[in-house]
Amino acid sequence: MALVSSWGRLGRWPHRVLALSDRAAVGRQLAAAAGDGPGIAHGMGRSYGDVCLNPGGALWRTTGLDKFIGFDAAAGRLVCEAGVLLRDIQRLVLPHGWLLPVTPGTQMVTVGGAIANDVHGKNHHRVGSFGDHVRCLRLVRSDGEVIDCGPALRPEWFAATVGGMGLTGVVTEAELQLRPASGPWLVTETVPYRRLDDFFPLADSSERGWEHTVSWIDCLSARGRGLFMRANQADIPYQAGDAAALGRPRSMPFVPPLSLVSGLSLRPFNSAYFHLNRRRAGKAIAHYESYSYPLDNLLEWNRMYGPRGFYQYQSVVPRAVGRDAVRAMLEQIRRSGDGSFLAVLKTFGQRAAPGMMSFPQPGVTLALDFPNHGPRTAALFERLDAVVREAGGRIYPAKDARMPRALFEAGYPRLAEFLQYRDPGVSSALSRRLIGN
Ligand SMILES: Cc1cc2nc3c(=O)[nH]c(=O)nc-3n(C[C@H](O)[C@H](O)[C@H](O)COP(=O)(O)OP(=O)(O)OC[C@H]3O[C@@H](n4cnc5c(N)ncnc54)[C@H](O)[C@@H]3O)c2cc1C
Repeated sequence: MALVSSWGRLGRWPHRVLALSDRAAVGRQLAAAAGDGPGIAHGMGRSYGDVCLNPGGALWRTTGLDKFIGFDAAAGRLVCEAGVLLRDIQRLVLPHGWLLPVTPGTQMVTVGGAIANDVHGKNHHRVGSFGDHVRCLRLVRSDGEVIDCGPALRPEWFAATVGGMGLTGVVTEAELQLRPASGPWLVTETVPYRRLDDFFPLADSSERGWEHTVSWIDCLSARGRGLFMRANQADIPYQAGDAAALGRPRSMPFVPPLSLVSGLSLRPFNSAYFHLNRRRAGKAIAHYESYSYPLDNLLEWNRMYGPRGFYQYQSVVPRAVGRDAVRAMLEQIRRSGDGSFLAVLKTFGQRAAPGMMSFPQPGVTLALDFPNHGPRTAALFERLDAVVREAGGRIYPAKDARMPRALFEAGYPRLAEFLQYRDPGVSSALSRRLIGN
């Protein structure tokens, strides 16, 4: 038994860890371990809550499935094992003129994790989510059965597995369609705004001309000021020394006895951050790694929330009610005095998701980290849940450790259809909490 936690560090629980490293043997390994009870695939554990955990049970660690299988540099198609990191794919394919079309705010996640949560990036309005660029995948069930599927091959299995939270089996390999990229550079622009109302027209106008759009929002300011950030691929060709522009990552060296993030530290920090960036506003050229994944430069930054860990609360609400719902959530957060520097507001595009349980839906998504203050934090989340429920929105399971089952069921209307594809030998703390087994 090994103690395993997820990114929110809300606890460490014993797991019977089975390391997978030979993709041809995964079916045999899972079937042989069936006597240990249900298990769940675990990639880099970058999910914040319990979607990748199975306390007291089996954990199938996939990071040993780390081999590239094939790369067609002319067509931009890559076949790799599911434990390969998005960072390693990007570094491999960039010199050949390609990048991944969709990446989340960290590239330290596995292909399997990106598929199972159908992760989104800052360019959802242009290119959708990760699953939109998976051409096919191999799913191995806990009884050893192998299912190859894709958008045109057993599409129902594909739609269940993309965004399926690992509950349909273990993805061992996938074929990805890459996107052309002349080099690593982005043209970026930061536009400060004073009021939440300014965010929406900025988002609308930016989506037309910019591929990547996202906003930092000061969750404690009364009017909802923020910094709108947008970026496009720069037309600067790749050069072998480009990576030299990147600094060496630093590390959070210890777990402080108390969270470094508190109402007291947050207010002056947010104010300083807003004013500093307001002065620096305008256009710049930035490397995609430092621009798109700034948190990857501070290894183990999740330790700064102290020994009790932290939650992330990410919701999406329909655009028609987005302004009122986001305002109501920010008001609850401001009144509570909690929240964190990491507060992100973004719009999702008008497109159907590739997975039955994919999180992105057309609308506005707000994501915030909260230090774990026990019942006080739980009470705030109940008030935020009420806003999301009223708005007809949903919460992102990849970030969740506590949403009520009724809110999950209301937010994911294809749940009953999805459950037909569930692997009976797979279970997670999240599935038991939200589905009952
Ligand atoms: C700093 C930071 C920023 C983030 N930004 C974003 C963002 O912008 N957008 C976004 O969408 N997400 C974001 N995330 C969340 C993260 O992208 C997802 O949680 C992602 O799924 C984590 O991948 P992982 O490899 O760590 O998988 P894990 O967290 O280990 O597992 C995630 C899920 O995938 C399943 N899984 C893993 N491997 C396999 C496999 N081989 N077969 C089947 N199922 C599998 C697990 O069972 C689990 O259900 C962010 C996370 C962090 C820490």
